[in-house]
Amino acid sequence: MLNVDGLKNGIVIDHIQAGMGIKIFNYLELDKVNGSVALIMKVSSKKMEKKDIIKIENVVDINFDMLGLMDPNITVNIIEDDKIKEKIKLSLPKKVENLIKCKNPRCITSIEKYIPHKFYLVDEEKSEYRCEYCDEAYKLEF
Ligand code: ZN
Repeated sequence: MLNVDGLKNGIVIDHIQAGMGIKIFNYLELDKVNGSVALIMKVSSKKMEKKDIIKIENVVDINFDMLGLMDPNITVNIIEDDKIKEKIKLSLPKKVENLIKCKNPRCITSIEKYIPHKFYLVDEEKSEYRCEYCDEAYKLEF
């Protein structure tokens, strides 16, 4: 049986909304990382009714902006030598670059492929972003 409690070195992505774990797993392409990865679904939680947890053996490069976009309520613990070295509280990034794409066909980023897709946060509650170039609204959906 996979021991999911012990993690000497690695990353624990906690407080994931139940059901989002598999999406995060896929977005972060965790099937491609070196070492074991455990996706634990529908864990009972005091803070939330049910949550998902992802445990990754070894510290890997994770795009925290992307993670924050997908679920800003997530917490990330970096584990080193059996101890929590760092606790990261995610939030919606104020600005994002090349993580989401502008859907306006007349936008410069739709016409010129080399221009980075840049968005800024306009409404934190609604998770709404706007394109820096054309102001097209982008509502996050995963
Ligand atoms: Zn645009």
